[in-house]
Amino acid sequence: MVAVLHHSLAETQAACRKFAQQGLSIGFVPTMGALHAGHGSLISRAARENDVVVVSDFVNPLQFGDLGDLDAYPRDLDGDVALARSAGATVVCAPQVHELYPTWPEAPATMVSVGPLAEIFEGAARPGHFNGVATIVTKLHNAVRPTRAYYGEKDFQQLAVIRQITSDLSPDVEIIGCTTKREADGLAMSSRNVRLSAEARVAARGLSRALHVAGQAFRANPQVSAETLNELMATSVLAGGDLVTLDYAVVVDASTFARATGPVDPTATRCLITAIVGGVRLLDNAGLTFTLADEMSTSP
Ligand code: AMP
Repeated sequence: MVAVLHHSLAETQAACRKFAQQGLSIGFVPTMGALHAGHGSLISRAARENDVVVVSDFVNPLQFGDLGDLDAYPRDLDGDVALARSAGATVVCAPQVHELYPTWPEAPATMVSVGPLAEIFEGAARPGHFNGVATIVTKLHNAVRPTRAYYGEKDFQQLAVIRQITSDLSPDVEIIGCTTKREADGLAMSSRNVRLSAEARVAARGLSRALHVAGQAFRANPQVSAETLNELMATSVLAGGDLVTLDYAVVVDASTFARATGPVDPTATRCLITAIVGGVRLLDNAGLTFTLADEMSTSP
């Protein structure tokens, strides 16, 4: 099917009403553009599981505390439409900021406020970030009224926030969490990776290696403590040298995000890592069963 490009959310909303009247299921993949194969994997999955697929392509200014970061965010609408189309999108919606936020640069009077989950880890590092995410997700879900909406585990805390607001505000939308797509050396794909210098790109491998090291340590000793795993992960990330500043490397309860202590339950925990590498904030996470292929974890 040929993907149609809409420049307004109103147009997409009208198209989605027609899809729903025809009894078609709608898969929705919200993105901030600069699409890569990670986004492509969400779109293809949505295409396999639904009659039509709507992809939104909107750099949401409300979730950026730092307006320099907003300006520096990569954009490539032509490339996005081509990738979305080849992955199976029906509609790509790239609305303008003023349609969604008529008062911008003043924030809208009404924002969706998420609660404690939005205050820790990424929420602590980026105050207001998750309320910005929750507000745009609510607006987009209201317009598209998807049968299923697809979000990446790559942004694990964001996925948890979206599950929370959906269950609180619009429980009829099914939220599907999708596995993280990685580069050949293990680095989690991210639109921000294009901002890494060649040296930072090498140092960035430390994040996925740290997740591998944690999985390996757990397999070697299932009684290993969360504290030991945290130290092992931090050491692996910081092996990237001076270019790397670690924000956190921590084993948490996968639903409450409470820090794990003592021996860990691999079915209920998640390892979260965030580091600033060469000035670029990178996130990764995995369960304790995670392993990189041997050649990835040992390559220079
Ligand atoms: P973004 O454009 O970065 O806001 O991401 C849009 C969606 O794609 C979010 O649900 C992300 O979690 C997801 N995503 C980003 N990177 C990846 C990846 N490497 N693998 C799978 N999903 C991803």
